[in-house]
Amino acid sequence: MTEGMGVRVESGEAVIRLPEDARNKLVEELAPCPCVAPKSIATTETRQAFLDALPHQPVRWPVSNIHGLRVALGDCACRGPQPSDTIRHRLSVALGKLRV
Ligand SMILES: [Zn+2]
Repeated sequence: MTEGMGVRVESGEAVIRLPEDARNKLVEELAPCPCVAPKSIATTETRQAFLDALPHQPVRWPVSNIHGLRVALGDCACRGPQPSDTIRHRLSVALGKLRV
C-alpha cells in the first residue's frame, strides 16, 4: 500500500484516506481513455462521483458499491494488463481486502 493510504470499514462505509500526492496522481490516472472503445455509463458515473468526492478527505463510500468502485478504478481494456505500481491499482487491491 502507498505511504499514508488508509482504507477501512466504519458504520457500513468504506473510509478511504489518501495523501495529497496520491490524490493528484490518482486524478491523472483516472482521466478517461481517449480510445473509441465503448465506455460503460455506470462506470463513468461511478468514477466521476469518486473523483468529486476525492478532495473531501476522507472519502466515505457505501460498502454496497465497493465492487462498482473497483470496476471504475480499472484501466481501459485497450491498455492491457494494469501495472501494479499505480495508485488506482493499489487502492483497488486495498478495497478488495476489506471485510464487509
Ligand atoms: Zn482505451
